[in-house]
Amino acid sequence: MYRLLKLTYRKLIPNSIHYRIEPFIRLFIYYLFYKGTLVKCSICLSHAKKFISISFKESEDKLCPKCGSLSRSRAIVNYVEDNFQNEKLKILDFSPHRSMHDFFKSKFANYISTDFENQFYAEKNYDITEIEEKDNSFDLIICFHVLEHILEDDKAINELHRILKKNGVLIIQVPLKDGATYEDFSIITPKDRLEAFGQEDHVRIYGHKSIEEKLKAFLFSVETVDISKNFNAREKKLFGISDKEIIFKCIK
Ligand SMILES: [Zn+2]
Repeated sequence: MYRLLKLTYRKLIPNSIHYRIEPFIRLFIYYLFYKGTLVKCSICLSHAKKFISISFKESEDKLCPKCGSLSRSRAIVNYVEDNFQNEKLKILDFSPHRSMHDFFKSKFANYISTDFENQFYAEKNYDITEIEEKDNSFDLIICFHVLEHILEDDKAINELHRILKKNGVLIIQVPLKDGATYEDFSIITPKDRLEAFGQEDHVRIYGHKSIEEKLKAFLFSVETVDISKNFNAREKKLFGISDKEIIFKCIK
């Protein structure tokens, strides 16, 4: 239901207007239906009766009724806060949710975000396969749910490696499946891509081991971390954190 309403809304409302009215629409819905005391969003710090459940093809997620953040945003914000305390770090974030963008912007003086298709709130408009930044520029790069949209992902990973400083950290999250990565570039219609890869604009679905091997081939040191394990069962419920928030922590 939520996805259907969102799709209809995004078809009707241009992005430029959406950016301005989105916070007010969310506030309205929050105060009318969700304000409460049972759960808490770790990004906007609001309390609610519950998170909004959203079903994807193969998974469930929980959306904050006030700021619109998903489990993965709340989990990565917590992980970055725990592991990256230097507020002068130079950080690049690809297509972050607005609430995540605003949160990091308030913590890190040199945080910038980028979005190629103008769907997310961002300062830059970089093509990830040809990033207009100098070599060795960033201490931390966050690339959540982007590579599965990119046809030339090798080119993108090469660029991420190039602009990361030595010993800098690249954090990647993508939808995963067991076995090898599945991609077929002859599948091009939204309907067929939804069927094959789980979303209309995905071009592959990565196998866990396959993407790890791919990242290692670009000379990253790669560690797989389940950042949902930073939360105990009570905290998972309170903060709406899904099981298995797997990230690939890649050090150059
Ligand atoms: Zn929130």
